[in-house]
Amino acid sequence: MRPIKELIWHCTATPEGREVTVKEIDAWHRARGWSGIGYHKVVYLDGTVHDGRPEAQIGAHVEGHNSGTIGYVYVGGLAKDAKTPKDTRTPAQRATMIALTKAAIAKYGLKKVSGHNQYAAKACPSFDVRKDELGHLL
Ligand SMILES: [Zn+2]
Repeated sequence: MRPIKELIWHCTATPEGREVTVKEIDAWHRARGWSGIGYHKVVYLDGTVHDGRPEAQIGAHVEGHNSGTIGYVYVGGLAKDAKTPKDTRTPAQRATMIALTKAAIAKYGLKKVSGHNQYAAKACPSFDVRKDELGHLL
């Protein structure tokens, strides 16, 4: 297993209430010329977890920060206008994201939990992980 020190959270940048499947994300990322879905886990609107790329494989989710990290994504992140960044996490997604983060901390001994927007001029994941419960689980 490759060493993993950090979990980076993302959103799918899709409108509030619209479900997105692993299959769709996989197709988007293949269209970019990648080998397949760049995230390791996907949290659907109902809070269920769906596997993306195996965690043993380096992800494709943050330019320059894929080595030593895993990338998880929740479905949502935009308001219904499909443009405005918005924290659209459902209560079920929030609960799952906390549980997944705790599990990854326990499994890998993570040193950091962060959001994509800490590494790029992007809104993703449409909230500040540092100010969220997710950023205070270590
Ligand atoms: Zn992202």
